[in-house]
Amino acid sequence: MILNGKQYADELRNVLTKQCTNLKSTYGRAPSLHVLLIGNNPASLVYVSMKQKRAQDFGIQATIHKLDKEISKETLLNLIHELNKNTEVDGILVQLPLPPHLDANEIIDTISPEKDVDGLTSINLGRLLRGTATLMSCTPLGCMHILRQWKPDISGLHAVIVGRSTLVGKPLALLLTQANATVTLCHSKTHNLETHTKQADIIIAACGSPKLIRKEHVKPGACIIDVGINRLDDGSLTGDVAFDEVVHLAGAITPVPFGVGPMTIAYLMSNTIQAMKNTYEK
Ligand code: NAD
Repeated sequence: MILNGKQYADELRNVLTKQCTNLKSTYGRAPSLHVLLIGNNPASLVYVSMKQKRAQDFGIQATIHKLDKEISKETLLNLIHELNKNTEVDGILVQLPLPPHLDANEIIDTISPEKDVDGLTSINLGRLLRGTATLMSCTPLGCMHILRQWKPDISGLHAVIVGRSTLVGKPLALLLTQANATVTLCHSKTHNLETHTKQADIIIAACGSPKLIRKEHVKPGACIIDVGINRLDDGSLTGDVAFDEVVHLAGAITPVPFGVGPMTIAYLMSNTIQAMKNTYEK
């Protein structure tokens, strides 16, 4: 079973577009997303313009703030405070990575938790731990959506995550735990990775290491979600899973591209709509 993230994202877009239309007719404006892009990291430029374009497809108003890479912390924090206060701004996202003179945790924690559409503020990460968050990291939400297409109930299954970042691995471990999976979180210091992944009913590869997961890592019939996006020297994109090697062994697998990527964007739009509801419907 190929888990087609592009198709699931298109289906979700149809639902979310209707919600945007309803919000617009009720409150007189579409949900609005503000993206802060600091400097000109080429990958960030691509991601940000993609987010803006996809926002339009959903009926969301996206504004990009292109800021100088030398911007002072004070100027940046003032801008975030202004956006926090502006009732016409629903979602705020600071595109990472930041230039070295800026502390990402400090900058992100300045965003109002009700507008934090990346779900990365300390408050929203804490709420996720408690199970009370309304805004959560988009990629883990996208992975959970894909898993539900494979099996609506993953209760009791063993999920092994490879990668423990705050953006993907750790929040996903919490969401999988809330869905009653048994979770193993592996990382770069894990010994004998394959002894863990080989026991998994679900493998989530989120380590940024091209084709790390090979056939010796996979139990026959396992569901494999490949979060990785790696650009190879020849310019091609590949995931963290050796797709051709494991596709016939896996029970279900996401491709790269058109797997987790489109779902991440769809959940950014979902979070922006949720942020508008946080403002008007609390
Ligand atoms: P990160 O660099 O912050 O974290 C990588 C994690 O993987 C770390 O916890 C590290 O310990 C672990 N790791 C690295 N090498 C490993 C190895 N050989 N064995 C076991 N663990 C290892 O990365 P991230 O932000 O979590 O992103 C991970 C990957 O997912 C990247 O390829 C990134 O581009 C991609 N990504 C994709 C999406 C999407 O929408 N599809 C979204 C976010 C990130």
